[in-house]
Amino acid sequence: MEKTNIYDLTFEEWENWLKENQEPAYRAKQIFDWLYVKRVDSIEQMTNLSKTLRQKLEDQFEFQALHTLNQHTSQDGTVKFLFQLYDGHAIETVIMRHDYGNSVCVTTQVGCKMGCTFCASTLGGVARNLTPGEIVAQVVESQKILDKEEGRVSSIVVMGSGEPFDNYEPTIQFIRIVNDNRGLNIGQRHITVSTSGIIPRIYDFANLKWQVGFAVSLHAPNDELRTRLMPINRKYPLKKLMEACHYYVNTTNRRITFEYALMGNVNDQDEHAEELANLIKDLKCHVNLIPVNHVPERDYVRTPRNQIFNFKKILEKHKVNVTIRREQGGDIEAACGQLRAKHIKHEFKL
Ligand code: SF4
Repeated sequence: MEKTNIYDLTFEEWENWLKENQEPAYRAKQIFDWLYVKRVDSIEQMTNLSKTLRQKLEDQFEFQALHTLNQHTSQDGTVKFLFQLYDGHAIETVIMRHDYGNSVCVTTQVGCKMGCTFCASTLGGVARNLTPGEIVAQVVESQKILDKEEGRVSSIVVMGSGEPFDNYEPTIQFIRIVNDNRGLNIGQRHITVSTSGIIPRIYDFANLKWQVGFAVSLHAPNDELRTRLMPINRKYPLKKLMEACHYYVNTTNRRITFEYALMGNVNDQDEHAEELANLIKDLKCHVNLIPVNHVPERDYVRTPRNQIFNFKKILEKHKVNVTIRREQGGDIEAACGQLRAKHIKHEFKL
């Protein structure tokens, strides 16, 4: 029988599993404690569980260890991991340092099929979805690294490789697990999910009425340009996307963050800023400008510094809330997908 990843279950699912296996429900708290508070890496170490229970767990579950293939630490403290999954696929996870704490950027798919033209993650397409446990394990591994410096994962961004809403249920399950205050206890307001704009899932996500942060990768202010940069826009064009965004804000009463990657001479001109301000007016939101990293496999170049500030100024003139993302890990290829792309290249000698 194929075993289940031990990080796959929510607290309630553990209670149900225990019930089905004639074990008391209070064991769920102990299991969660071993997994997410003590952070052991074998069932054998769960010493306050009975031997019979441990055997039942051994029969059905396994720790699918993330094997570190590569680890880079940047001068600003950003740590980027290339993890190998149990079946050999490689994924990336990044720990970023902020003055308010440490955040972890997790990956939800091996690769990505969305085809955004500025992104290295999508170069090889999508190989497979991650399970909830494989996403959770990235946080646990990061927390273990931070344990060594008595640090804590204080926030999570679901912005690594992959489109989380193309792997919706496991992503939601992942949030339930890391949010649980009997385990890792990462508050909903400290978790942010980012989508390229899969509209039906935006409605589903809004209907959860969670306090989880929500970001949409916009990157262009009109359909013509957005379709060129993000093929998803053909299926889910801006008008419909904006309707979904309004629904999200009205349903949750939370603001949306729009990610806007500035690419030299592509989407960074004054008229783009004007058009963007017009597109998102009346929406409770915030724009995060990301000066794009040079992707060697792609042709994009960085926007000059003065134009970045100019773009910001135009948005501000229209009373748009806007920030410029602080660059992190620039010296270690922290832009999404770059490390993995390199690994694949190396592995297959492309
Ligand atoms: S930017 Fe995000 S959605 Fe687009 S290809 Fe890259 S990982 Fe996928």
